[in-house]
Amino acid sequence: MDLLPLFHNLNGRRCVMVGGGSVALRKIRPLIEVGAKVEIIAPEINTAITDLAEKHSLCLYQRKFNNADLEGAALVIAATDDKQLNKQVSEQAQKLNIPVNVVDQPELCSVVFPSIVDRSPVQIAISSGGTAPVLARMLRTRLESLIPSGYGFLAQLAGKFRQQVKEKITEPNSRKAFWEDVFSGDISELVFSNKHDIAESKLQEKLDKQLSSSANSLGEVYLVGGGPGDPDLLTFRALRLMQKADIVLYDRLVSKEVLSLVRRDAELVYVGKTAGDHPVTQDNINEKLVEFAKEGNRVLRLKGGDPFIFGRGGEEIAHLADNGIPFQVVPGITAASGCASYAGIPLTHRDHAQSVRFITGHQKEHKYDLNWSELVAPNQTLVFYMGLNGLETICQQLMSYGMDSTTPAALIEKGTTTRQRVFIGDISTLPQKVRDGGAKAPTLIIVGSVVSLHDQLSWFNT
Ligand code: SAH
Repeated sequence: MDLLPLFHNLNGRRCVMVGGGSVALRKIRPLIEVGAKVEIIAPEINTAITDLAEKHSLCLYQRKFNNADLEGAALVIAATDDKQLNKQVSEQAQKLNIPVNVVDQPELCSVVFPSIVDRSPVQIAISSGGTAPVLARMLRTRLESLIPSGYGFLAQLAGKFRQQVKEKITEPNSRKAFWEDVFSGDISELVFSNKHDIAESKLQEKLDKQLSSSANSLGEVYLVGGGPGDPDLLTFRALRLMQKADIVLYDRLVSKEVLSLVRRDAELVYVGKTAGDHPVTQDNINEKLVEFAKEGNRVLRLKGGDPFIFGRGGEEIAHLADNGIPFQVVPGITAASGCASYAGIPLTHRDHAQSVRFITGHQKEHKYDLNWSELVAPNQTLVFYMGLNGLETICQQLMSYGMDSTTPAALIEKGTTTRQRVFIGDISTLPQKVRDGGAKAPTLIIVGSVVSLHDQLSWFNT
């Protein structure tokens, strides 16, 4: 993040505008709206501005700018077509530590004007940091159509009840749940359909019915599949619950991009395991889930891929069930589906494979406990998870049980992400290629003649 968005209280504060043309006019209007004392300095000032000045008692100085004009200003804006002058204003303002904006010259700005969606008191500011104002404006248009104008009233109504609610519902999580219910249920619908009075009395009713005790209610656990990496592959439900959670327990496989979509103020707890080294044990995770939920939290257990595929999701919810904790499970795109799609390798295909097997490539005490003679049967695709270290052994075992050494095989590294790499070979050549390429976990291995389709069907370029 390059710029920190802040909302600026300029009510009654002196704001200096250097420039008197139409560009200046555009910036003066929002300043008037927030109650700033606007001073305009320019040798020529257009009539639209003089009209506005009269109406809102703005100060006009019809003359050249000089550095002393900036003394004591809360904000300075330069909107002239004189680049030298803009630079002078910017330098002088920065010398005096006054926030300065120079229209269309981001390099001279210490603050930028965002595009605004105004549902006062709710405001949404969008900025591209001066890189793509058109994109920011397009986003604004989208948000304008998504956010009903009633949000302004809804926020005002909440403001009116805020203190009362705080006094009556003292437990923070219950209070949060109360407001979420107000903002997503009947009361907000009444506001959006302009029935403000009914909405207000319903809100009062809801609050009166609320138990005054701040009894700790039981929380809930969401076991959510975060997919293989690309955040676009999340389900709507996953995203919704990610936005609701109070605490997030996440694994090593959850990508940074996916993690960045959880609610900003949620507490993040890393419970990842690295191969062979288990800093947080599974029992420990199971216990934490119960403990956090018992404290009344909405706990997000966020896992890479799908929680029910090599994810120990079953064990975690069994423990929750034993402890009477409510939970829900959200499927995610498993690595096999994600990697296969993004590598252009269909897992089944009428001409190649009528079935697919998901196999753990993880060795227990350096040994595999797999039924190799079943794995070498024809017309199927094999997908090995966690198989990077065992790749050589896997390929050798397949050959020794009779699989043709020219059977195509692929290894996909960091599938679906911008760092994806695909290694293609056959079961006799793949291990060497992967070693030469220095592949790093997470990787997925696909074995079977479907891999030969990659050349024709590959589409995702990183
Ligand atoms: N529950 C997860 C799998 C967990 S086991 C799922 O459904 O995908 C961990 C293994 O998943 C890794 O060792 C690797 O084989 C595979 N994996 C997960 N994400 C991957 C990715 N982005 N690219 C390649 N393999 C991945």
